[in-house]
Amino acid sequence: MPENDTADGLHCTFCGRVCEEVDEGRDELRVELTREEHGEPLYWVGDFCSQEHAAEWLRGPLPEAVTRSTPSPTTWSDRVAIGGCFLLFAAGVALFVLGAWTALQFVLDRV
Ligand SMILES: [Zn+2]
Repeated sequence: MPENDTADGLHCTFCGRVCEEVDEGRDELRVELTREEHGEPLYWVGDFCSQEHAAEWLRGPLPEAVTRSTPSPTTWSDRVAIGGCFLLFAAGVALFVLGAWTALQFVLDRV
């Protein structure tokens, strides 16, 4: 499947024209399809200049499915942010336990 997202805009998956040039992009449409086959999720996506072209594309046989590497790709910056949040949470819990322990000892010393 040719890459249809280029510098001059989205190209219609069916006719190849730039979607924004057809009727000023008023009928521009993105269609996403999913189907599960043997437990594997299959995925298709197409951009169209009009609903008619989306219908024509759906009427024909589907091209090769797009493979998704992972359901939610996690970048290193995401992992660092998640790790930072976890460290802050752990530090908060540690300070709470330390404070509770100190308060308990203070109360026990006075009895
Ligand atoms: Zn088209």
